[in-house]
Amino acid sequence: MSKDEETKDPMDEIQKNLQNLFKSGKIFTPFGSPMGAASGGEPPPSSEEEDKERAEALKRIEEFNLKPREIRDYLDRFVIQQNEAKKVISVAICDHFNHIRRCLEDPELSEQEYAKQNIILLGPTGVGKTYLMRNIARLVGVPFVKADATKFSETGYVGGDVEDLVRDLVKAANGDTDLAQYGIIYIDEIDKIANSANAGGRDVSGRGVQINLLKLMEETEVNLQSQTDMLGQMQAMMEMQRGGKKSKRTMSTKHILFIVSGAFDQMDKAIEKRLSNTTMGFGANPASNEEDADNYLRHVETRDFIDYGFEPEFVGRLPVRVACQPLKPADLLQIMASSEGSVLRQYVSDFAGYGITLEMDKGAMEEVAERAYKEKTGARGLMTVLERAFRDFKFELPSTSIRTLKADRDTIQDPDTQLKTLLRENLSSQHEVLKTEVAAYAKRFEKQDGFQLEFQDEAVAALIEESLETDKTIRSLCERKFRDFKHGLTLISRNTGQKKFAIDAAVIRDPEKALSQWVVASYQEEKIVNGEE
Ligand code: ADP
Repeated sequence: MSKDEETKDPMDEIQKNLQNLFKSGKIFTPFGSPMGAASGGEPPPSSEEEDKERAEALKRIEEFNLKPREIRDYLDRFVIQQNEAKKVISVAICDHFNHIRRCLEDPELSEQEYAKQNIILLGPTGVGKTYLMRNIARLVGVPFVKADATKFSETGYVGGDVEDLVRDLVKAANGDTDLAQYGIIYIDEIDKIANSANAGGRDVSGRGVQINLLKLMEETEVNLQSQTDMLGQMQAMMEMQRGGKKSKRTMSTKHILFIVSGAFDQMDKAIEKRLSNTTMGFGANPASNEEDADNYLRHVETRDFIDYGFEPEFVGRLPVRVACQPLKPADLLQIMASSEGSVLRQYVSDFAGYGITLEMDKGAMEEVAERAYKEKTGARGLMTVLERAFRDFKFELPSTSIRTLKADRDTIQDPDTQLKTLLRENLSSQHEVLKTEVAAYAKRFEKQDGFQLEFQDEAVAALIEESLETDKTIRSLCERKFRDFKHGLTLISRNTGQKKFAIDAAVIRDPEKALSQWVVASYQEEKIVNGEE
C-alpha cells in the first residue's frame, strides 16, 4: 500500500463514490418531484422556459386578484354541490392571498398580528373535500400536498415528522422555496388524532401530534434537510462543493395555508344531542329541518371539537370551519353528467384510446349512480361501479372490430352477459379482424427475419379457430408456433436460396415437424444441386 493510499480519508472515498453515482443518474435524488422534475439522477439544470414559468406563477400569487365569486365559479366546473363549502373556502382563500399580497406591498403589515385562515373541513369520505382544495391550488397556481394525520407520531421517529409536510411542499414546487412558501398543506383524517382520553380516538400520542401541528400552522422555520434524510444531506453538501446555487436551508410556514379534514363520525351524534338539549323549551331545534337531518356537522362549534379530544389552541388555529354534505344519487348522476373532472370522462377517454366510443344512456347512468350510492364512499363509489361494469369490456373490445359501446341499464347490471352477446354478434367481423392480424404477423416476420410466410386460407382458418378456442391472440399464437423458424429458414435459405414459404394447416398443427422436414429436404436438394447424388 502506498503512503498516499494509507492516508486517504475513507469519508472522502465514500463521498467521491456517491458523487459519481449521482452523476451517473443511477441513484434517486430527493429533488425528483411530483410536479414533473426528473425522478432520478442529477436534477437537470432548470431550463429558461421553466424559470420563466415559475417566475410567472410567483408573480400571479404576489399580485393575487381573484374575487370569491370567481373562485366559486371555477369550482362549480369541477365540484358538484358543496355550495356552502365553496363559498366559505373561496372567501378564506381570497383573504389569505390578499393578505400575502398586501404584506409584500407593505412589509410593516407583515409584522402585525394576523390570524391565518386555516380551514377545517368536515364531512364523509369521497364528497369532494380534497377535490375542492386541489382545484383551488391549481387555480391559484400554488403547490399542494396531502397527507393523513395518522402517519405522524409525536416524536417523528415511528411515523412521519409533521415537518416532512413542508419538505414535501418544496418537492412539489420542484425545489423552489419561493413558490413553496405560499403552498397549501392538506391533512386528512385529523379526527384520528383526537386525544383518546376525551373521545374514542385510537392514537394515544394524538395530543403530541396536535401540538407539533399547531407550531407548524402558526409560524415556524422548518429545516429543509430532514435529519433522517442522509441522501438529501449528502446532495446538499455536493451542490455546495460544485459551487452550484446554494439552496435555502430553512423555510418559514408563515404563509402556508393549512387545511385539515375528517369525517368526525361520532361528532354528528354529539352535536345533535347538544342541539336538542339547548333548544329544549326554546322553540324549534335549529337542525330539525329536513336538509339537516343527516348532517349535524354544519352546526359544529369550538366546544364540539374540544369535547371530541382536540386541544383548544389547536382548534383556535383553524378559524374557518365548514361541513361538506353527503352526496345523494342525484348528485352522483350530476357528477357523471357535468363535472369536468368526472371519472366517467376518464372512462370515455380510456375507450377512445382504442378508438372506441363509449355511449351511456340515461338508464345506465342512473344505475351507476344508484349502485355507487350504496357503496357509501361518496363519488369514489362511481369509480368502483364503473370499473366493475367495464373492466372486461376494456379487456376484450380493443382486440375486436367493435368501435362503439352503447351501455344501458342492463350493461351495468349484468356486464358479463352483455359482453358475451356483443362478442357473439360481432363474430363474423371478428374473423376479419383476426385475418388482418395474421397478415400483420407475416409482415412483421418478413421485416424482422427476412422471410415471407405465405399463409394459405386453411392455415388462417386453423389459426383463427385456435385463437377463439384458446382465448389467445393471433400474435401470441404465431410467436409461439414460429419461434424456431428464423433459425430453420436461414439454414434452408443457405442450402436452396428459398425466401418464401407456404404455410398450410399442417404447419399450424405441428410447426416443429413441418420445419424439420423442410430442413432435411433442403439438404437433399442441396446435394442434388451440387451433383452429389
Ligand atoms: P374526500 O372528501 O374524501 O376528500 P375527494 O375530494 O378526494 O374526497 O373525492 C374523491 C374523488 O371523487 C375526486 O377526485 C372527484 O373525482 C370525485 N368527487 C368527490 N366529490 C365530488 C363532487 N362533489 N363533485 C365532483 N366530483 C367529486
